[in-house]
Amino acid sequence: MKTAALIVAAGQGTRAGGPIPKQYAPVGGRPVLAWTIAAFQEHPAVHLVQVVIAAPDAKAYAAAVSGLGPKLLPAVNGGSTRQASVRAGLLALASHQPDQVLIHDAVRAFVSADTISRVLARLADSAAAVAAVALTDTLKRSGPDGLVVETLDRANLWRAQTPQAFRFADIRAAHDAAAGAGHAATDDAAIAEWAGLAVTLVPDSAENTKITTAEDLAMAERRVAAAARDVRTGSGFDVHRLVAGDHVWLCGVRIPHSQGLEGHSDADVALHALTDALLGCIGDGDIGVHFPDSDPRWKGAASHIFLAEAGRRVREAGGRISNVDVTLLCEAPRIGPYREAMRARVAAILGIEISRVGVKATTTEGLGFLGRKEGIAALAGATVVLGCPAGGT
Ligand code: MG
Repeated sequence: MKTAALIVAAGQGTRAGGPIPKQYAPVGGRPVLAWTIAAFQEHPAVHLVQVVIAAPDAKAYAAAVSGLGPKLLPAVNGGSTRQASVRAGLLALASHQPDQVLIHDAVRAFVSADTISRVLARLADSAAAVAAVALTDTLKRSGPDGLVVETLDRANLWRAQTPQAFRFADIRAAHDAAAGAGHAATDDAAIAEWAGLAVTLVPDSAENTKITTAEDLAMAERRVAAAARDVRTGSGFDVHRLVAGDHVWLCGVRIPHSQGLEGHSDADVALHALTDALLGCIGDGDIGVHFPDSDPRWKGAASHIFLAEAGRRVREAGGRISNVDVTLLCEAPRIGPYREAMRARVAAILGIEISRVGVKATTTEGLGFLGRKEGIAALAGATVVLGCPAGGT
């Protein structure tokens, strides 16, 4: 099941009072849109992220997404309305043939991984699923003079938020039909309703708000600052023995070598140390607890499975990976020529920006078992921010 996220960032609103559209305004030193993209990019169920932008924002967009990872497709330009922009995004996604799509407002930067999971899950038994919040305020209708005309019954009334999830073919057909008929709507669920699709409401957190005013931006800044207080660090260490062979796996990269590493899995000592460092950040055991070498499932396993699972556990615990760093201790092979490939691989496995991954190497000056080339060791560190808004890597 291939799932795409379509993020609508083509609005030119500057209601927040700044000189730039609000989706490019910084929160916690990072553009609102970058937080939003990261929330979807880091979600394990999301495979592709397509952003729709306004053509004049191309430069601001390029700066905002600099370093964001491999799931992000090149942006496409939107239309004169939100509806036209969504349609442009759906058209761009069509060549990637996603099975389902999550459509999301660029300025809802606080969407949680849990909300994304729950909205997607409802597609199993519904044609469309929409994050929504039941109304708690009393609703009044006013006349043009501002005087109350009536008080409305709020029972069964909801505020529709995003993400809104659809089967890709359904929402694409619905948007095409609406455009053909000149039918206008303010969200995609309304397009789906108009096309006769059943739409299920998925109760969402009221924290998944739009950042549209200067007041919203100030509140977002306070939320990020509060969340960033619980910073965790973890460490990891691993050694594998060098034996006869013709290659080693280090940081998920296959390196031709005059020896091989011995282990139950592929013996990627660097990924094992990194896995332990991440698990250490949330006090969740170690690699041996989750992937015991007595379990035949992990015989010869590619170690990216272990690191990806540690990353998933961190996110499940409400954590965001701030950075990971590994030091390889060996006389050979030389790491320098593979360093960038290693950083890119680790970044891809964890769904984080490459700038958040450090790979270093040192020898032990010929001393000890490492110096005698009897094995390769790796030391790793990781930093995780707990309770951060989604996307707060
Ligand atoms: Mg190991």
